Order: sequence, then C-alpha cells, then structure tokens
Amino acid sequence: MHEMSLVQALFTQLASLAADHDKHRVLTVTVAIGPLSGVVVDSFQFGFDILAAEHSLTKEAKLIIINPPATFQCLQCGHNQIAAVRPDSCPQCHETLLIAEGGDAIILNQVEME
Ligand SMILES: [Zn+2]
Repeated sequence: MHEMSLVQALFTQLASLAADHDKHRVLTVTVAIGPLSGVVVDSFQFGFDILAAEHSLTKEAKLIIINPPATFQCLQCGHNQIAAVRPDSCPQCHETLLIAEGGDAIILNQVEME
C-alpha cells in the first residue's frame, strides 16, 4: 500500500518536529492531500490510525485531512478551472485536454503538540 509509506514518512516528520520543540504529545495533524496525488484518503486515514496507536507521541493524535483544489487549464483557450476533481472538459470550448497545475502534493499543513 502506497499510502502506508507516506504515513510512515509523516510520522518520521512528526517525531523530529516533536523532538525539535520538546513536545511529547501530538494532538492534531492537518494534512493537505491534493486531488492529483493519487492518494486514497481512506487508506491514508487507516494507516495513520494504525501507526498513531503504536507510538505514545501520537496515541491521541487526530488526523484532519483537507482537500485543496487544483487548477485545470484548457490547452485550447487557456480557460482556468479550479476544482477538486479533474473536470471532463473545458466549460468554454469543450476541449478535453486540460493541464493540471498543483494538487499533486501532500503537505503537512499544521501540527498541534503539547
Ligand atoms: Zn477551453
């Protein structure tokens, strides 16, 4: 499962953040998962729950997933659409070749620790 390795990377990041700031408990973790990242949000959440329970640092941590939209630009007329899911075609000229910009990243947005 691709998501499991992403969650593992996230936990490595959390552990070093906690160490840097001398914190012992992670309360909430906000992660932005772009619509083009190919990540299955349910699998990510599932992996998070498993790993969180294994570490005292994250035992009570709550994962908040946000879905930032991506920009889809029409190759034909240049019209930009902002959407969380890839649109089928351009609303102006019905061209189906749309170039996505952004939205493929997984970003650790915010961490609350104490
Ligand atoms: Zn167009």
